[in-house]
Amino acid sequence: MTTMTIEQEVNPWEAQRARFETAAHKLNLDPGLMKVLSLPNREIIVHIPVQMDNGTLEVFTGFRVQHSVVRGPGKGGIRYGPDVNLDEVRALASWMTWKCAVVNIPFGGAKGGVICDPKKMSMGELERMTRRYTAELMEFIGPEKDVPAPDVNTNEQIMAWIMDTYSMHMRQTVTAVVTGKPLNMGGSRGRREATGRGVMVVCDEALKKLRLNRDETRVIVQGFGNVGSNAARLMYEAGYKIIGIVEFDGGLSNPNGIDVDALWEHRYRTGSLHGFPGAEAMDPQQLFLSDCDILVPAAIENVITTRNADRIKCKILCEGANGPTTAAADEILAEKKIFVIPDILANAGGVTTSYFEWVQDRQGYFWKESMVNEQLEHIMRSSFEDVVRYAETHSVNNRIAAYMLAIDRVAYCLKQRGIYA
Ligand code: NAD
Repeated sequence: MTTMTIEQEVNPWEAQRARFETAAHKLNLDPGLMKVLSLPNREIIVHIPVQMDNGTLEVFTGFRVQHSVVRGPGKGGIRYGPDVNLDEVRALASWMTWKCAVVNIPFGGAKGGVICDPKKMSMGELERMTRRYTAELMEFIGPEKDVPAPDVNTNEQIMAWIMDTYSMHMRQTVTAVVTGKPLNMGGSRGRREATGRGVMVVCDEALKKLRLNRDETRVIVQGFGNVGSNAARLMYEAGYKIIGIVEFDGGLSNPNGIDVDALWEHRYRTGSLHGFPGAEAMDPQQLFLSDCDILVPAAIENVITTRNADRIKCKILCEGANGPTTAAADEILAEKKIFVIPDILANAGGVTTSYFEWVQDRQGYFWKESMVNEQLEHIMRSSFEDVVRYAETHSVNNRIAAYMLAIDRVAYCLKQRGIYA
């Protein structure tokens, strides 16, 4: 561990592999099955020509990695960004396999990405790139094959373009090809808040376990995007004390608790968190390392590394983001006896409600929001129990328990199906 460079420590594929190998060894997984599950099933690279608004032709590189389709169609988001790379997409695809298995929904794991800077592209350019990327993947995606969803820098509009492009090729409307769609074209009620709601549900379960109460529980949330802002708002409304919000360009602190509804309203009016009168501005790094009961990293990867893990001061770490903690930092958190709710459990509320969206699209019957939330809570609570029980039975930490549970489920299915030759 000490010989590891920070570049190796923060490589998401390495982070995934380290946990996979630890869990697989603890499970005594058959070496052959281990080989199969350690690698993605399929990696697709496409070069996407796009006519830009200024008349020039640009070529963007895109990926779709299908890590596993053993338990069902691949499932996973599509990410746009200048730093997207194959290792990251690979890691995210395998995390999806484990995540879907932890919450026991009938999907495998996949992920996609396109190297581009969406902030510098017009809507027209984004649309043409999205449609051509979809067309290049026509034979690889579909309701029974691989079902994409939004991720960083992609949204409902982009899902609508993917659904339309796929449907045009199929000569019929196929809503179930993607999830995270707008509500009026096959989206699910409750999907927008689902990841944040799932975060709250597992925090509630952790409080029960540690015999803490919501109204005495101080929470710091990093990231006020989809996951963080919904988790903060739902937790605030449920009685938690949100004492800090950490964004990349500043932090907001109030030891007496931030009125998160008022903060939403302030952001809606001003377009920013800055100048919110109900909290003090604070240095984001310092706020992230401040004393609290629950820390919810809900922004980006690798925010907890060997460089700062010893200064994290929370009782519960609930990972709203994918991969916020490096494998090397896990050991430090364990020494500090921090109760970690690992990403593949903590943020699984999103994919669980995506599963409900896929089910509703295929049923052609749309559920009430209360039904979506009820089903989601049930799955999150029972998955939390499964992971914590597994950890206690096998004397491992929650993260390794979540991986073991997931790998066991996928490997069992793979063994039963057998290897097609
Ligand atoms: P988002 O883009 O809506 O929000 C991310 C927020 O984090 C933004 O407000 C951004 O300004 C902030 N941020 C970026 N860098 C930061 C930094 N260094 N410090 C503090 N804040 C920073 O994205 P999201 O959909 O909320 O996703 C957040 C994370 O959760 C990602 O890791 C994503 O893969 C994961 N996730 C999302 C979902 C979902 O349903 N949206 C589901 C599962 C996992």
